Amino acid sequence: MPEIKCSNKNCNRLWWYKGKAPFYATCPACLRKVNISKNRTGRQQLEPKPPETREETINRILARDTQKTTESECERLKKIEESTKGF
Ligand SMILES: [Zn+2]
Repeated sequence: MPEIKCSNKNCNRLWWYKGKAPFYATCPACLRKVNISKNRTGRQQLEPKPPETREETINRILARDTQKTTESECERLKKIEESTKGF
């Protein structure tokens, strides 16, 4: 979601725009209609990610540990395998 800055110079409110309107957002402070594309700050707030699947967890750990996989790492991976079996 984009961050928007109110175009009202007396307000200058910053907020994360969560709505679906393509052009105008209403400022939560002064209720002015603000042009989204002109007044976005360029910052993006990341949407919360959905919980990763068992495969994604394992792939991520494998990818990260490819360079330094030791015996204990293998044990840890096995434990992760066990703990994620219910997925
Ligand atoms: Zn405002």
